Amino acid sequence: MKDLLLDFLSILFPVLLYQFVVLTHSSLVKDIIYKISLGVLCGLAIASSMILPDPIINDLDGDLRHIPLIIASLYGGYLSGGIALACFMLTRFFIGPAGWELAFLAITAAFGAASIFRSRFAKQTPWRRLFITTGLTLAGFAISWLSTISQHGNAGDIRQLAIVCIIQLLAMGMTVFLMEVTIKSKQMQRQLLSVEKMNLASHLASSVAHEVRSPLTVVKGYLQLVSGSMEGKNRIYIETSLAELKRAEYVINDFLNFAKPQLEKMEVVQVADMLHQIRQSMSETVGMYKVDLQVEAEEGLRVEADRYKIIQALAHIIKNAVEASYGGQVSVYARRVSDKIQISVCDNGEGMTPDELTRLGTPFYSTKSNGTGLGLMVAFRIIEAIGGQLEYTSEKGKGTTSVVSLDIAS
Ligand code: ADP
Ligand code: MG
Repeated sequence: MKDLLLDFLSILFPVLLYQFVVLTHSSLVKDIIYKISLGVLCGLAIASSMILPDPIINDLDGDLRHIPLIIASLYGGYLSGGIALACFMLTRFFIGPAGWELAFLAITAAFGAASIFRSRFAKQTPWRRLFITTGLTLAGFAISWLSTISQHGNAGDIRQLAIVCIIQLLAMGMTVFLMEVTIKSKQMQRQLLSVEKMNLASHLASSVAHEVRSPLTVVKGYLQLVSGSMEGKNRIYIETSLAELKRAEYVINDFLNFAKPQLEKMEVVQVADMLHQIRQSMSETVGMYKVDLQVEAEEGLRVEADRYKIIQALAHIIKNAVEASYGGQVSVYARRVSDKIQISVCDNGEGMTPDELTRLGTPFYSTKSNGTGLGLMVAFRIIEAIGGQLEYTSEKGKGTTSVVSLDIAS
């Protein structure tokens, strides 16, 4: 029994060490370094559990060496599992008792199976992972018990066997628990860092945008003033400058909304009016992309929002749909659905893969050569600030549908 407890500790110690390694290093360390350290530490655990005297109870090998191997393969994949397996073989080579073929086969099979199921394992919830690993331990115990029964013809002392089984389960459970705590803490550490970075970037972006906006307004004012008295070529130059200024303003407004958007003036907005206004302001883009843009809105739908901001958000969503559907069709519907107003934008454009869908709304994510990757981030933030929701569904090659749900203005 003493041997078994010693074995137990020799397994837990490397996992604790791994936790220390992962949590004390900066988030910039590459995952591969963690994988290698997980493999080496699990390898050490295997080696120490093999060098320590084997806990043999009722002829049943109560050894725990398979636990670090399974942990390394399931949490670290081929690399960590492979290193742990190599440690196993090296130790075998040096201490080499007879009859190692069976152990070798069993442990290689465990490594192979665990590595193959690794990607599916990673997608499970922590509770399920605990369930799966302890289930595996139980199955392994049952198999080795059955094999001793078939060798000796009797079941052995049930009480002692139960203790071995419980210690194996506890060892696996605690190891998985520690691994999960490590993963969760690391995730939180990384999130914190990215939030800090975002805060810094948004401060910088909005203060620069603010400073640039005032001179632009002055320039725009003077240009508008002189454009009336210009003729011929000069007039075209001024108009082009004004159009470009409008584009610059558009981008600057996005940068100003980088941080949480301030809703300045809440008012009751007619949805149909708003959508037609957006459609008009977008006629140039619509023409350029040869898109058939349809707008249908039930009469009398009203929302309470900052008029300018909600238009900005919806315009971004519709503009993306138009840009994704060259020569195609974009339909915008606004209707009442129970106690909400739903504005859906459907396009039959290029669509997105599930992976691309999850990246929507993250700053600077753009697949366009001249995109800023700010539009949807701003749209998500504005809609959230108004108290609404924006949801996307999409299929690559078929098209995209986005639905904005807003409260009905009373
Ligand atoms: P930008 O338009 O500057 O690229 P956005 O934040 O507006 O930035 O959009 C981010 C990315 O999301 C786009 O580059 C595009 O790849 C994708 N996207 C957004 N809407 C759609 C859509 N309706 N269909 C296909 N892809 C879309
Ligand atoms: Mg866009």
